[in-house]
Amino acid sequence: MRTVLLGAPGSGKGTQGAVLSEKYNIPQVSTGDLLRAAVAAGSELGKKAKSAMDAGALVSDEIVIGLIRERISQDDAKQGYILDGFPRNIAQAEALDTMLTALNQPLQGVVLLDVAFEELLQRLTGRRTCKDCGAIYNIHLSPSKVAGHCDACNGDLLQRADDNEDTIGNRLNVYIEQTSPLIGYYESQGKLHSIAGIGDVNDITDAITNIFDTI
Ligand code: AMP
Repeated sequence: MRTVLLGAPGSGKGTQGAVLSEKYNIPQVSTGDLLRAAVAAGSELGKKAKSAMDAGALVSDEIVIGLIRERISQDDAKQGYILDGFPRNIAQAEALDTMLTALNQPLQGVVLLDVAFEELLQRLTGRRTCKDCGAIYNIHLSPSKVAGHCDACNGDLLQRADDNEDTIGNRLNVYIEQTSPLIGYYESQGKLHSIAGIGDVNDITDAITNIFDTI
């Protein structure tokens, strides 16, 4: 099942992608995670990406398209994948379509997680991620049982470098200007399914599952 989770920063793509990846036994492919890993490893690619990421801007299309091409050609992606944070502009969506058409494996569905901007701000400023297992918490909305530590593995909870107010504003603008045109792009392909990304996390998972099961 070849799918995309589309939505603004903080809309829940990462949280839902992780649950759905387990449920359908297909990888969640997050360009943000791949880029953060490259930055942490200090690779050439990471060095090129870092300044754009720190500013909340988009990393070059060439870099992220290359990452996706390599990742989805791996064995564990043969049965499909959930793309999270890619594509982020029309050029990336076109490149993905070209890549998948050549493989005769087009995308099957795109789920838009629709969340109001006021809610996104609260989610992003309060977000904390486990440095060991990647579990996501929110100090305002869904705190861990012991402050600063992961419920699942007791790892330290860290705030992402780009989850500060200045960068968040820029990331939301980038979403409006560059990413939201993808809604029309996928709508015109008949692939867009829109759901409200608010309320209980399990209910949102159920709503996405209902869509995934029909595509
Ligand atoms: P995310 O974890 O998806 O919020 O991504 C964090 C940051 O990584 C973004 O603010 C961008 O700087 C960069 N990034 C992630 N995915 C992409 C993409 N598809 N295109 C360009 N930049 C990206």
